[in-house]
Amino acid sequence: MSENLAALRAELNYDKTSKCVQCGYCLPACPTYLTMGKETHSPRGRINLVKMAGEGKIKDLSVLEEPLDLCLGCRACETVCPTGVEYGAILESARAAVTRRKKFSVPVKALRNTLFKKVFPSRRAMKLIGNAMWLYEKTGVQKLARKSGLMEKLPAHLGEFEKIMPAPVSPGERSSLPAVTRAKGEKKYTVAFFVGCVMDAMFRRINHLSVQLLAEVGCDVIVVEKQTCCGALHAHTGELDESRKLAKQNIVAFEQAEVDFIVNNAGGCGAMMVEYDHLLAGEPEWAERARQFAGKTKDISQVLALCGGIKGQERPAERVTYQRSCHMTNVQKVTEDPLGLIKGLPNVELVEMKEANMCCGSAGIYNIVQYDASMEILDYKMKHVKDTQTTTIVTTNPGCLLQMKLGIERENLNDRMRAVHLVEYLAERCGINL
Ligand code: SF4
Ligand code: SF4
Repeated sequence: MSENLAALRAELNYDKTSKCVQCGYCLPACPTYLTMGKETHSPRGRINLVKMAGEGKIKDLSVLEEPLDLCLGCRACETVCPTGVEYGAILESARAAVTRRKKFSVPVKALRNTLFKKVFPSRRAMKLIGNAMWLYEKTGVQKLARKSGLMEKLPAHLGEFEKIMPAPVSPGERSSLPAVTRAKGEKKYTVAFFVGCVMDAMFRRINHLSVQLLAEVGCDVIVVEKQTCCGALHAHTGELDESRKLAKQNIVAFEQAEVDFIVNNAGGCGAMMVEYDHLLAGEPEWAERARQFAGKTKDISQVLALCGGIKGQERPAERVTYQRSCHMTNVQKVTEDPLGLIKGLPNVELVEMKEANMCCGSAGIYNIVQYDASMEILDYKMKHVKDTQTTTIVTTNPGCLLQMKLGIERENLNDRMRAVHLVEYLAERCGINL
């Protein structure tokens, strides 16, 4: 084997493809295979393409681009695979290999560099975005833009996404989270809270409520200053080296705090962080530190459940359904705690939707860059949502939350249905307000 081919195999994680015996058990679990019906848009087909590239049978890696781009990265295929194929690792390294060879136009390259290296990793930049969203609404520009019909003319269906953005809050109300929030009553754990990039800019209210809920159940909550974006968006778009840099920055930042757990409230971020050990496995000086970090990482629902759950107040009866985050289900394997917390609330009836584990089509920015494919999956999901005859969809990930809001808009269900984050729902049912 030539040196070049050996290097390409290492870059592609080729060795991991050999576990695939081509049985096809993963096909029925794959949303893109179900909706597109093509072998190249199935897990088996994608693994085969990577295998062929690693064997030199495909010389031009751009052939892999479309099948990989259309993958949601939901990792439902991993959960049903009898031989334990690590599809997520194969996908990420294949995407990175394709991205390294891709010739981006100058403006696209500049945009990617700005977003991935300057915006997402910077809490200051994300704060500015949050403030700009507030100004956009407060100055009346939003009203004007909507009235003028400009929104319908925006490219990539951005007008539809604009409608479902969370209501912005003022810079004053968007105050930073306190460095330390003390447990109410007897202290059970000390936790560090991961603020995230998108959560910090657009969903800061949920972050504030998360800290309050954690304190309510008996946690001292610390917010570590030098933390940064988890790197998930980078890893999913082929910027694997950049996501390694961010992982290291987070490891260093959180090592300073002596805590029992590192808690997040976004399924996608949590999935990235519980796999920092895999991400940095090839770097001996980081591997053990990454393992420690990953071991302490928990979704907020796990910690709330561990502390005995939330004591809800007597409130009006409500039927709710739960949209599972793929990354929480398939990567973090957190399935029962969110359900248990909802079921523990007085007067709340939880109705599970059919095919609850199927992706909603959000998948990071998939719904923007692969709009048609994403909407086909969302429409399929919304049929099951409607069948539950519930009034609230509870989710645990910002992407799923926005996608469910979009689904409600598309189905004209605004007058009888809403979508909320689990944290918002628990806070509402136990009377915590900001
Ligand atoms: S990924 Fe797993 S389930 Fe899918 S074809 Fe390969 S071995 Fe079978
Ligand atoms: S990650 Fe999801 S979309 Fe991609 S191949 Fe696996 S099941 Fe299909």
